[in-house]
Amino acid sequence: MLDKSEYLHPDKECLSRQEIEKLQVERLQATIRHCMNSPFYKKKFEEMGIKPEDIKTVADVRKLPFTTKQDLRDTYPFGMASVPLEKCVRLHSSSGTTGNPTVILHTQKDIDEWANAVARCLHMVGLRPNDVFQNSSGYGMFTGGLGFQYGAERLGMLTVPAAAGNTLRQIKFIKDFGTTAIHAVPSYVTRIKEVMDQQGVDPRRDTKLKVLAIGAEPHSEEQRKRIEEMMGVKAYNSFGMSEMCGPGVAFECKEQNGLHFWEDYYIVEIVDPETLEPVKDGEIGELVLTTLNREAMPLIRYRTRDLTRVLGRTCPCGRNHIRLDRMKGRSDDMMVLRGVNIFPIQIEKILMQFKELSTNYLITLTTDNDNDNMTVEVELAAGIHLSEVLLQSLAKDITRALKDEILLTPHVKLLTLGTLPQTEGKAVRVKDLRTVYQ
Ligand code: ADP
Ligand code: ZN
Repeated sequence: MLDKSEYLHPDKECLSRQEIEKLQVERLQATIRHCMNSPFYKKKFEEMGIKPEDIKTVADVRKLPFTTKQDLRDTYPFGMASVPLEKCVRLHSSSGTTGNPTVILHTQKDIDEWANAVARCLHMVGLRPNDVFQNSSGYGMFTGGLGFQYGAERLGMLTVPAAAGNTLRQIKFIKDFGTTAIHAVPSYVTRIKEVMDQQGVDPRRDTKLKVLAIGAEPHSEEQRKRIEEMMGVKAYNSFGMSEMCGPGVAFECKEQNGLHFWEDYYIVEIVDPETLEPVKDGEIGELVLTTLNREAMPLIRYRTRDLTRVLGRTCPCGRNHIRLDRMKGRSDDMMVLRGVNIFPIQIEKILMQFKELSTNYLITLTTDNDNDNMTVEVELAAGIHLSEVLLQSLAKDITRALKDEILLTPHVKLLTLGTLPQTEGKAVRVKDLRTVYQ
């Protein structure tokens, strides 16, 4: 174990595996008891004859039913709550990247615990009360706003609710307030850097930045490295989802060797999305999470649809909270083209290997003569100006590298920087215009 000051909550962060599991069993029993106040779970548990005493080990979680996003939609807006509405102080709704929105309720205790979890993550990557934290993420229903705001304040940092957008003002704030840490979606960090370049601002020379928290959308290791190089600071992967509160579910430590999921707050399972049976450590499957200390709306075995795998349960940082690989994408992000399964992140990984390219890209799927086709549009990096001949040869190299990865030949279009639509929230990477989907 490192020096105690490395941990914000040493009593929870430094638990042994045995201690983690003991706590999880206790908290799961309490959660089941509490869920009997939710009309949804009461009915399910009674039908299945489930009692808190049935849980003797963490593996007994498998006796419990799964919960899906559809269940949240079916019980919209308040049918999942385990407390009366008068006890709730906040409502968040998922940003609805896929399908209808869902509602998540919070009591004051939930909000406090959520702030504690985010504060723990930020402390883990070296942030302290004397840091200045600029939250350049959307506010409102998007939990990346208030979630990081409360967490950063809980840690005691001067917290700037800059929100996303107005990039010139963001850069002014970074310089004037001596911002040392920023939270934003990866695509927005790239945007900030583009505008810094236009303004002649060098983050290494002109700012005090030392940490970036990037997350909320899938991004490749290659994209993270790009962001670190261009900003001259460490970028840590932050994972969360509205259903589990928001940010603070998992975060990388300084080792940057996977996402530590906080197992005092969640039971983590990885299952085969078809059979729903557990997969072996190291195998990719669907992430399933059970909340262990939620009051307003505990969720049992929630199927996140995010695909990942277990990397390990120990770490040189001294924390034994499970480490999972960065998300490969959601099961519903998977594109099936001519029978081949492809994730957008596979394409990103290849594009990022070309230094001539920026991190902005868009994949468009079309049907031409009854065949699926893919066009990959990608912007050139700042300062790259190539002759027509060199452009063609670069496009050819990219096409070949993509074909090796996805086994199909996409049509690659190179664009000048700033041509593709910019988003301040989660980036839209795929446009599916195929006739069958219309
Ligand atoms: P919505 O479900 O409407 O997109 P959320 O903001 O709750 O709204 O999004 C949560 C989802 O965002 C996760 O289930 C996951 O797919 C994605 N996500 C969040 N953080 C990360 C991350 N660090 N890496 C990859 N995907 C992420
Ligand atoms: Zn670690």
